[in-house]
Order: sequence, then structure tokens, then C-alpha cells
Amino acid sequence: LGEVALLPGLINAHCHLDYTRMAGRLKRPRHFTEWVREIIAAKAAWADADFADSWQSGAQMLVRTGTTAVGDIEAVPELLPAAWNATPLRVFSFLEMTGIGNRPSPRALLQAALDRIGRLKHPRSRAWLSPHAPYSTRPELLRLATSAARRRRWRITTHVAESVQEYEMFTQARGGMHAWLQRVGRSNRDCGLGSPVVHMDRFGALTSSLLAVHANCLSQGDAELLGRRCVHVVHCPRSHAYFRHPRFPFHELTDAGVNVSLATDSLASVVRSGRQPLELSLFEEMREFQRRFPKVAPGRILEMVTLHPARALGLPARLGELSPGAFADLIAVPVSSSRGSLYESIIHHTGGVRVSMIDGQWAIPPAD
Ligand SMILES: [Zn+2]
Repeated sequence: LGEVALLPGLINAHCHLDYTRMAGRLKRPRHFTEWVREIIAAKAAWADADFADSWQSGAQMLVRTGTTAVGDIEAVPELLPAAWNATPLRVFSFLEMTGIGNRPSPRALLQAALDRIGRLKHPRSRAWLSPHAPYSTRPELLRLATSAARRRRWRITTHVAESVQEYEMFTQARGGMHAWLQRVGRSNRDCGLGSPVVHMDRFGALTSSLLAVHANCLSQGDAELLGRRCVHVVHCPRSHAYFRHPRFPFHELTDAGVNVSLATDSLASVVRSGRQPLELSLFEEMREFQRRFPKVAPGRILEMVTLHPARALGLPARLGELSPGAFADLIAVPVSSSRGSLYESIIHHTGGVRVSMIDGQWAIPPAD
């Protein structure tokens, strides 16, 4: 293999593979709500085949750049299990549920997702639940989905406290997101009562099985609450930069004992830099994180795409490490001795990995 670092395959705890081909197509928004409305319109113009191509194109990017396991949000669950069969990736698909009106009821939405999951069987991949976000769901869905996941010992994921507009909506019952959602039929009776994190807790949705994605906008005490409830937080550095969110409270969260992972989010919220085509890559995310938090040791940054997401996905000792009993998911990354420490050199790797093995099979075989 030449001069390489042999590593456990990287784990991307939060992605939307089906939006990959929206890369660069949406106008960079002034406000988060603007972007949500744009992507809803863009999705309406796509057929299932577009989503399927987009999903596979994202999966290929992840394999090329060293990801071997992905936690993916499925807005189009009809793509499964065909999408799983067409990729070597280990996929944890979270079936997205949204709904702010009375029909379908939260109970019906959940039942439809459970029925679908019940029909999905695959040797490597599996499906769990994702109530989309506090603002895009009725609180009852958060409560029902959390208890359904708990009974089955499943992981569950939700976008939480992503934007200032979401934060304003829940803390003060005002702002652009609050007004828009009210116009389209959300009751908003659950707003004005505390932060999005407190909202999640009020409906029992903060548990050790939750991957809370983003957690950018926290009130005093929220980080400690997430820590007490053993919630896992997933931070998406390039998506964070795209939306110009307030500083990610990394130190507050880790001081509170929260397990923080890094992930790509979708390619629909990444800024193109120069002429390089946009690609899903955890190496890019590690570098963006390091730009924002230069004092965090490179070895610790690497843990946020290996050991930490393995814990978040409930598979410590199986994913994210090379050890007896772990899955045979591994990659080799070319390293150069010119760049300080080995970890520093790994983080600055660009392009594809030298080899990738997933579940004991070559996803990228060694060159002859
Ligand atoms: Zn997301």
C-alpha cells in the first residue's frame, strides 16, 4: 500500500444522500427559513429516479473519501432497500417524518414509518426513525417516536436548535420561521416556552438514543441538560459555515460531557470554494472544524469521525476502531512525513483513500 495510515473506516453520522445533486443549485440564503423553502420547491420538481441517482452519487463520494458507515436521513424511503443493495456502504437509514397539521396524525405518520421499517431487511444496513425537527413536527410525534424507539432499542435522530430563527420561534414565539409556519398551518401553541432543547425535553425526546443534529443555538443550561440526558450531538462544520450560524458551542457541550461527532450534512448546504467540484468528505469536515477550533488536537478531531459516532450509533467496539470483534471496516490513507504529526497529516489528506474495506469486502481494492 506504500506509505499509508491504516484506519478504521470513517463514520458519517448525519447525511442526506438523496440531496447530493442539489449541490450548488440553491441560492445561498440570507435566512435558514429561505433555504428550507427553496429545498422544498426543488424537491417538488424531482422524480424518484432523480433522488435515486442523487443518493448513489453521494454514496460513491463517501466511499471514495473513506467513509464506510453513514447515518442517512431518508426523505424518500421508497428508495430502500434498492439503494442499500447498490452501495457497499454500511447504511443506517433514518426515515424522515414531518407534519405540522392534523392529517396525517402523528400516530399515523409513525405507524407508516414502522410498517415500512418492518418490511426492510438487509445483512449490513438497517432503518430507524427521524422526526425531522421540533419546528417541522407536532410535539406528539416527538413523544410517540421516542417511545417507539426506546421500546425497540433503536437509535433516533432529529435536527435540533439549528438556526437562530428556530431558536427565536421556540424561545420568543416570533421571527421569520414562526410567522411562515403559522401561515402554513402550524398551531405554534408550543412556542414561547423555552429553547428547542427544552422543547425536546418537555416531550421526553432527550434520551441516550438520540442523535441531536446541530445544537448550534443553546440557552443557558441546555448543554448541561444534553449532558445529563446522555444525548449525542452531531456537528456539521461546512453546513454550519454555509448558513453562518452562531459559533458552535463545542466547548460548552464537551465540558458538559456530551459526545460530539462530526458529519457532512447534505451537499445542498456547502459553499463551493474555487473551482473544485463539491464532494461529500469527512476530511473536508475535519479541516473546516480545525479552522474554527485550531486548538483542538488533531487526534481528537479524528475521534469525532470514528469512536464518537460509533458510540452515537450504539455500536462502540464494532464501528470506528480496529480491534478484535469489530466490523472489518477499514481504510488506508496516504500520509506524508513532511506534515508534523501523523494525525495532522491524516486530517490534511485530500482526494480519495488508497483502499477501503467494508464488512470484509473491498469497496476500493488495492491497485495492482
Ligand atoms: Zn440534516
